[in-house]
Amino acid sequence: MTEGRRVFRFAPSPNGFLHMGHAYSALLNFALARESGGRFLLRIEDIDQGRARPEFEAAIYEDLAWLGLEWETPVRRQSEHFEDYARALERLDEMGLVYACDCKRSDVMHFAAAHTDWPRDPDGAPLYPGTCRDKPRRPAREVLAHGGLALRLDMGKAAALAGAGLSWREWGGGDIPANPTQWGDVVLARKDTPASYHIAVVVDDALQGVTDVVRGRDLFNATSLHRLLHRLLELPEPRYRHHDLVLDEGGEKLAKSRGSETLRALRAAGAQAADIRKRLGF
Ligand code: GLU
Repeated sequence: MTEGRRVFRFAPSPNGFLHMGHAYSALLNFALARESGGRFLLRIEDIDQGRARPEFEAAIYEDLAWLGLEWETPVRRQSEHFEDYARALERLDEMGLVYACDCKRSDVMHFAAAHTDWPRDPDGAPLYPGTCRDKPRRPAREVLAHGGLALRLDMGKAAALAGAGLSWREWGGGDIPANPTQWGDVVLARKDTPASYHIAVVVDDALQGVTDVVRGRDLFNATSLHRLLHRLLELPEPRYRHHDLVLDEGGEKLAKSRGSETLRALRAAGAQAADIRKRLGF
C-alpha cells in the first residue's frame, strides 16, 4: 500500500447521463478524499467505444461541477491508454494464461440452455464451457490483429498460479476471501474492445496510485477477479468500500438502461445541487 496521501477515484462510463446513484458515489469519494486530506480523481471509462459518446462525457463534467465537485486534471480517459492494457494482457499471455476464443455469445447461451443447471457467474451469465481452451495457443496481439473474436483467461490455471489466501480488505467488513473461479474463463479482450473492464480497471488503479476503491455493491463480486489480476500482474492492493446502491421508489437499482431519472432532468425540473447533496446525506 502506498504511504502518504490517500487517492480516491470516481470512474463513470460515458454511455448515458449520470443519475442519483452516480451522484452518491462521486460525492462519497470526494468527501472521503477531503476528510483524509487525500486526492480525488475522475476517470472516464470509455473503453467500450461502441457505447461511449462525447456528449455523455461532456455531461459528466458538467453534472459533477454542478454538484460542487472538483477533480485533478488532466483526466485519464481509458480510450487513450489501450497500449497499457495490451501490455498487461501480453504479460498474462506470456504466463500461458490467455487463449483465443471464437465462440459467439449465442454459442455459449445455446450450450448453457442445453444443460440443466449449467453454472452462472455472479452477474447471471452462463459460465464459458471451455470449448476453445485446449486449441493451439496463438499470441494475444496476433489474435486481436487478425480478427479473432475474443481472448479469455484460463481461470483454472490462473487461480492455481495465484495460489491460496487471496482476499481483500473491505471497509467495515474485515478481510473478504476472494473467489475468482466463480467467474469462469472471463473475456479479457474482444475484437471490438481490446481490453475488458477488468483489465483496464486494475491497470488504471495501479498507474494512478489509487489507494481506496469506493464503488457500488454491484461491483462487489468483480473484486474477486480484480484481486486475482493484481496478484498475477504484481499490482498493489487497494482498500475497498462497496457502498449501498441508491434505489428508486419501487426499491429497484437505478440504471441508465432503464432510463432512471438523470441529474440533468432533475436540474431542468428546478432541483438545486444543495438539495441533491442533502437528499444523499452530504
Ligand atoms: N465504470 C464503472 C461504471 O460506471 C465503474 C468502475 C469502478 O468503479 O470500478 O459502472
